[in-house]
Amino acid sequence: MLLDCAVIGGGPAGLNAALVLGRSRRKTILFDDNKPRNAVTQESHGFITRDGIDPQEFKRIGQEELSRYPDVSIEKQRVHRIIKDHTYFSVETEDGRVFKTKKVIIATGFKEILPDIPQIKEFYGKSLFGCPFCDGWELRDRPLAVIAVDQKAVHMAKLVSNWTDDLIVFTNGNQVASPEEKALLTRKGIKINEKKMISLIGEEGRLRKIQLEDQTEILRAGGFIASEWKQAATFESDLGYEINDQGGIKTDSMQRTKTPGVFACGDTRIAGPSQLIMAASEGSMAAISVNAELVEEKFSGQPEHQVEKGR
Ligand SMILES: Cc1cc2nc3c(=O)[nH]c(=O)nc-3n(C[C@H](O)[C@H](O)[C@H](O)COP(=O)(O)OP(=O)(O)OC[C@H]3O[C@@H](n4cnc5c(N)ncnc54)[C@H](O)[C@@H]3O)c2cc1C
Repeated sequence: MLLDCAVIGGGPAGLNAALVLGRSRRKTILFDDNKPRNAVTQESHGFITRDGIDPQEFKRIGQEELSRYPDVSIEKQRVHRIIKDHTYFSVETEDGRVFKTKKVIIATGFKEILPDIPQIKEFYGKSLFGCPFCDGWELRDRPLAVIAVDQKAVHMAKLVSNWTDDLIVFTNGNQVASPEEKALLTRKGIKINEKKMISLIGEEGRLRKIQLEDQTEILRAGGFIASEWKQAATFESDLGYEINDQGGIKTDSMQRTKTPGVFACGDTRIAGPSQLIMAASEGSMAAISVNAELVEEKFSGQPEHQVEKGR
């Protein structure tokens, strides 16, 4: 069967793309290997009607809603290769099957690279988070840490200061701020600690204190980490889309990449805040964009590859 669209990645971006495609009667398969980056957390916030929902429950509801649409199916498989032939794309899954499709939406998300600090992964998603808009409310008015080993430290500290007056920036031995920036933060009551961090101490992911190289221990109830990001997708492809300077897939406002027939949405673009509702919204836009191209191709009378080349 020739698909109208293959959606790669079944987080909020891919789920919403598949929903809008299904409602548009487009033959669609959503491929997902269920390894989202928010699997480390129990609650997602800030999505109206879903504030505080377990991310896996969010996904379950999304998949249930898709099951109402006969043109959409879900393959719980990792896509390991996408090849563009003359007109169509071949999407190959890990179990060796190949699916032909007219369009591809990439919604594979990103992964964070946490700073190299002992035990940090035990606390990530439980009391240390990446985004104050997602988890700041739950940590409000508590003694917090910003853990940042590069220039993102000052921006993150300013942001987090909205949720607490007791904030320390830990740089793990790095110089991350100019003297002027340090003076500014100090004037606002934010301390910077530039000692190496030896250990994070707490129980079941709940941070209690941070131990430093000189053996001092500083009480902290949680905080925020400024991470590096990289693409989550590990599939091979010859799609040749452009990458932005943060390593995300570059698109226009219609979620189109430079490669005709290939769209990208959600975290995989690594552009702007990383939020469920924004990913879902971009998924919707990608689907509308795919649909618009398919309609145009139907009525233009041109073979699809010529339409695509003429964009
Ligand atoms: C600790 C933490 C807490 C967060 N809290 C919140 C919050 O409270 N509120 C909020 O709005 N946002 C929160 N976020 C951010 C939110 O999780 C992301 O913005 C959102 O999940 C992005 O959606 P997405 O669909 O783009 O990517 P993802 O949700 O990451 O989904 C991508 C999917 O693609 C799949 N995939 C990847 N490669 C392949 C492949 N080759 N083949 C098949 N499938 C593939 C992955 O397994 C995954 O299921 C949090 C993130 C983290 C890490």
